[in-house]
Amino acid sequence: MRAVVFHKPKDVRVDRVDDPRIEDARDAIVRVTATAICGSDLHIYNGLLPQARPFVVGHEFMGVVEEVGAEVRNLKRGDRVVVPFPIACGECFFCHKGLPPHCERSNPAHYGPGGHVLSEKGGGLFGYTDLYGGYAGGQAEAVRVPFADHGPRKVPDGVPDEKVLFLTDIIPTGWSAVRWADLGGGETVAVFGAGPVGIMAMKAAWLQGASRVIGVDILPYRLATAREVASAETVNAALLDPVETVRELTGGRGADVCIDAVGMEADRSLLEKLNAAVHLERGTMKVLATCASAVRRGGVISVVGVYGTNFHDFPLGQLFDKGVRLVGGQALVQRYIDELLELVLADRLRGDDIVTHRLPLDDAPRGYRLFNGKEDGCVKVVLKP
Ligand code: NAD
Ligand code: ZN
Ligand code: ZN
Repeated sequence: MRAVVFHKPKDVRVDRVDDPRIEDARDAIVRVTATAICGSDLHIYNGLLPQARPFVVGHEFMGVVEEVGAEVRNLKRGDRVVVPFPIACGECFFCHKGLPPHCERSNPAHYGPGGHVLSEKGGGLFGYTDLYGGYAGGQAEAVRVPFADHGPRKVPDGVPDEKVLFLTDIIPTGWSAVRWADLGGGETVAVFGAGPVGIMAMKAAWLQGASRVIGVDILPYRLATAREVASAETVNAALLDPVETVRELTGGRGADVCIDAVGMEADRSLLEKLNAAVHLERGTMKVLATCASAVRRGGVISVVGVYGTNFHDFPLGQLFDKGVRLVGGQALVQRYIDELLELVLADRLRGDDIVTHRLPLDDAPRGYRLFNGKEDGCVKVVLKP
């Protein structure tokens, strides 16, 4: 079959690879009908997450069940499914706690309690490097889905792929970001990053009771999308100091909740790059630091942007003085996907309004270039195998 293979940084190709096979009684093989490129894929593409061998990438996908293992009784050939990006068994200590990205059984080679830079990672993720389980990903014609009796959700026939595709990742990710902040109603939520994840967090903030949603980014076209599809007030951090501006908009106090939906690949100067190299850091935590200043005393910072290393200038004293609660991590997709599927089918929540590029799978290298370079008004790329 054809699949998008990461070879080395900035080099992804559509190669011929072996067809996936059932390897375990709980596996299914899903024939992919739609898959998307995620900001998380860019961390591999740009070499911030290490991957030594060529590897099929992609973790946002849906499709049609082609074959099931002997123990998969909830699915049958021909079912349409959307597949959560974390691979989780549904039975271990962390799965029982509703923490699927921390599943103890899906990443046997590299799992552990430590969460270090290159060891003791969390559970397996589709197409997300050997450190996260080494599972071939979903930017392909077909995928082996482990624990298929737990992860995939059936979607009704007749619903377009794009309407439900983002239940695999960015809709639950935006939702998780806001749920971690436990809104009581009436909060001001500032979302840093108006990419696909940030925009889904803005939409989630409204649905979970926020009374104001402020989107912060450095790209005017992305801020325009945030205004259009998520009714956010917006701040261009390339033109205005985001901390001062958020404080001005909130009576001088700061936002009740700041969500970091940018992560380690925020824009940075040459000096910041040199500084990071000296400290063996990947990327920058400047957006997290901005959140520490833009959040109000006693507020919440929720981090869904990905960070791969520790950072030496972590603002612990500031967070302590302000009494800030810091939460975040990989999205709890399996925990929220059913309620989110209901919201999507009821047209109360949309994901498809951010798709700017629909390309055949063979054009994946161009899709990566456009999405990574923020070119041609690119917000979200959907690939069709
Ligand atoms: P993206 O690259 O499209 O979006 C990032 C946005 O941040 C861009 O619009 C960019 O202009 C903006 N940005 C860069 N520097 C900034 C700055 N200094 N201030 C404000 N905005 C800035 O990516 P995405 O798909 O939206 O993903 C965003 C992050 O979420 C990535 O780190 C991705 O890995 C992560 N992610 C996490 C999870 C999870 O489970 N936690 C799931 C999906 C994605
Ligand atoms: Zn993703
Ligand atoms: Zn588990």
